[in-house]
Amino acid sequence: MSSPALTATIDLDAIAHNVGVLRAASGTDILAVVKADAYGHGAVPVARTVIAAGATELGVAHISEALALRAAGVDAHVTSWLHTTGSDFAAAIAAGIDIAVSSQRQLDAVIAAARVMGSPATVTAKIDSGLNRSGIGEETWDDVAVSLAKADAEGSIRVRAVMSHLARGDEPDHPLNSAQAERTDAAAALLTRLGVATPLIHLANSPAVLTRPDLARDLVRPGIALYGRTPVPAIGDFGLIPAMTLTAEVALVKRIAAGQGVSYNHTWTAPVDTTIAVLPAGYADGVPRALSGRLQVLINDRLFDGVGRVCMDQLVVDLGPDGGGVAEGDRAELFGTGAAGGPTARDWAEAVDTIDYEIVSGVGGRVVRQYV
Ligand code: PLP
Repeated sequence: MSSPALTATIDLDAIAHNVGVLRAASGTDILAVVKADAYGHGAVPVARTVIAAGATELGVAHISEALALRAAGVDAHVTSWLHTTGSDFAAAIAAGIDIAVSSQRQLDAVIAAARVMGSPATVTAKIDSGLNRSGIGEETWDDVAVSLAKADAEGSIRVRAVMSHLARGDEPDHPLNSAQAERTDAAAALLTRLGVATPLIHLANSPAVLTRPDLARDLVRPGIALYGRTPVPAIGDFGLIPAMTLTAEVALVKRIAAGQGVSYNHTWTAPVDTTIAVLPAGYADGVPRALSGRLQVLINDRLFDGVGRVCMDQLVVDLGPDGGGVAEGDRAELFGTGAAGGPTARDWAEAVDTIDYEIVSGVGGRVVRQYV
């Protein structure tokens, strides 16, 4: 069988191992974040893996992502937390999706959908405890809490949880982390006083799970650490194993003469007669164009420099005057675990001043995911 031109190989055992690391660190149940196609790793296989490895539930941004999990037969509890005026709450209720509401308007729309369907919606109150992004704002919380309690009492919704998201989880010692936890606890306590059966509480993201176990409540909600990327590199890797390795086949090998420019605008010129390789991977596949002339690839255990501009579909590597023993059909590792001395997603992230969340979730749709 021929191998795909460009492959993201996903190590599901690594993801299962990472679930174990997170369970041990938090000592509590895990709501695994599988939004954005599980940060580029493939939502359905990852969802099945994390649940089999001991995570108890799942979280996504959009209802459409939750419905896709259901369509694939994933029946674990799923919470969806990012909605717009067009969000299909009826479909979410029908599929048993936990709807995290960020405003009175969203709550009203969920209640209306539940009444029409004659079936109670499961609702999480998403509290804005300091991130100032989505979530029920502090100034409206008291009123929304009353509405939540009223709808819960009349049976159109069942309030299951209170969630919030940390603004500075990757700064473990920052006082805002504890302050956000206290506000979230207070929000849950208010609901209880209003007659709602004690809701679950969750707010810890990956960095908090690994560095602030005191912020774990009934659940923790890690994303990036599941995929083996440390969320706080300055502290360590916590024994996490990176799950994604991006490889491309060497599509073309050819000679060029000294003085010839390579790729758009000839930003690199061959200093001597040399051999170049073309890899079928470009910025449409998630290789940042800003890595032009700043990336290396591993072919047959040797590192080679990327040269010239990264294009939409391809990039060029200098194999050196002797061709480095590389042949068309060989495989080049663009990033991986780093174990064999090859580049990592973190190397890419640092080179282009971003975070490896953006690198792995940016791996494009035409990259074939292979699971091992
Ligand atoms: N919870 C929410 C609401 C999120 O949006 C995210 C991701 O951004 C997470 C949890 C997981 O965060 P992380 O990937 O840092 O663990």
